[in-house]
Amino acid sequence: MEIHPDCERILLSEGDIRKRVVELGRQISLDYAGKELMAVGILKGAMIFLADLVRNITVPTRLDFMAVSSYGLSAYSSGEVRILKDLDQSVEGCHVLIVEDIVDTGLTLNYLLGNLKSRGPASVKLCALLDKPSRRVLPVEIDYNGFTIPDEFVVGYGLDYNERYRNLPQIMVLSPRVYKKGE
Ligand code: 5GP
Repeated sequence: MEIHPDCERILLSEGDIRKRVVELGRQISLDYAGKELMAVGILKGAMIFLADLVRNITVPTRLDFMAVSSYGLSAYSSGEVRILKDLDQSVEGCHVLIVEDIVDTGLTLNYLLGNLKSRGPASVKLCALLDKPSRRVLPVEIDYNGFTIPDEFVVGYGLDYNERYRNLPQIMVLSPRVYKKGE
């Protein structure tokens, strides 16, 4: 398979991802049988995952999006998260499923789960394509987890480095020389 020159190795192939997304969609459809789902995609990283996931969900599903910026622990010890784009719709009484690309320190998801739970939804669950548990700072319960991965910086299938590589169909480990160049 052709590997992008900035990437060290392929972590998850298109086939690996496709198969897991089908499984996640099937499980979510079973768990939400008889209910309507409100899928909340976290921009921009979860966009491609969300698009594939919802086409494997068979219960009625509405879509909405949020964009957040996370400063992480290196910049602010509080791990401040800021909402850049809020939902268009109210989630009061809705079964909300947050769809995220990756849970790393857990700061972003901790904030988002708390924020959405305070809006009076019927339920809030989390579906994350990737989980990097070795870097966790705050605990996060992931209801639907695609893959658990080691502590390496990955790009592709929606995940970026400086807004690049989102369009790669696989998930790849980025070569450290790429971020050294950007420093
Ligand atoms: P957390 O608040 O859990 O540390 O941050 C989650 C966010 O950090 C993700 O939504 C993603 O934007 C970014 N992130 C964490 N690890 C990676 C990674 O390996 N690759 C990319 N592209 N982004 C990552």
